[in-house]
Amino acid sequence: MSIQDNLNKINSQLPEHVTLVAVSKTKPVSDLMEAYNAGQRIFGENKIQEMVEKYEQMPNDIEWHMIGHVQRNKVKYMAEFVHLIHGIDSLKLLKEVDKQAKKYDRIINCLLQIKIAKEDSKFGMSLSHAKELLRSEEFSQLNNVNISGVMGMATFTTNNSQIEQEFKRLKTTFDELKSIQHSIEIISMGMSGDYQLAIDCGSTMIRVGSSIFGSRNYSN
Ligand SMILES: *Cc1c(COP(=O)(O)O)cnc(C)c1O
Repeated sequence: MSIQDNLNKINSQLPEHVTLVAVSKTKPVSDLMEAYNAGQRIFGENKIQEMVEKYEQMPNDIEWHMIGHVQRNKVKYMAEFVHLIHGIDSLKLLKEVDKQAKKYDRIINCLLQIKIAKEDSKFGMSLSHAKELLRSEEFSQLNNVNISGVMGMATFTTNNSQIEQEFKRLKTTFDELKSIQHSIEIISMGMSGDYQLAIDCGSTMIRVGSSIFGSRNYSN
């Protein structure tokens, strides 16, 4: 199946309230353009440098999402154009995004990454840490960031009931945080292998790579 076929298939199954982020990391611009020409306008990358290079080569009506772990010293490279940063996992990082956004007179949308997986390798905040951030005096002074939701990654496992539990935990976390911070609307959860389940558990934004672009080859 072509990239266009894959996109059409996924889009035909998506409820209207769910947004598809096409995760194009490691893929060449020609593949992204195929998706673009099929109507896709939201792309997700996990490396800032790679996202900047693609941004410079592609049409300017694309929404670029940073879905990977963000190093503070690299925020400045994407501050001019990034539409949504999914991986905010500390107040320190959020303050840097705010500082860089101010330089461009922008308000950058951010998701708080919540740790739902059991794996130590996955980043993210606990619910209590997220609450503390949202209630802090320092956060209330940040005028150039908007917390528009939460993001989470389930454990890499074939155990669907564990994944379901983790997605449900993110939904509960979302509900609690939304009662503190009304700008919270997005639940970014679900990837190629589990997006159906994620949608059933309340996801409003799925991040799908290999089911659109095919499997990734990290060797080249
Ligand atoms: C790579 C990646 C995805 C997409 O993974 P697929 O399994 O290829 O759909 C989603 N979210 C994040 C954070 C990723 O790094």
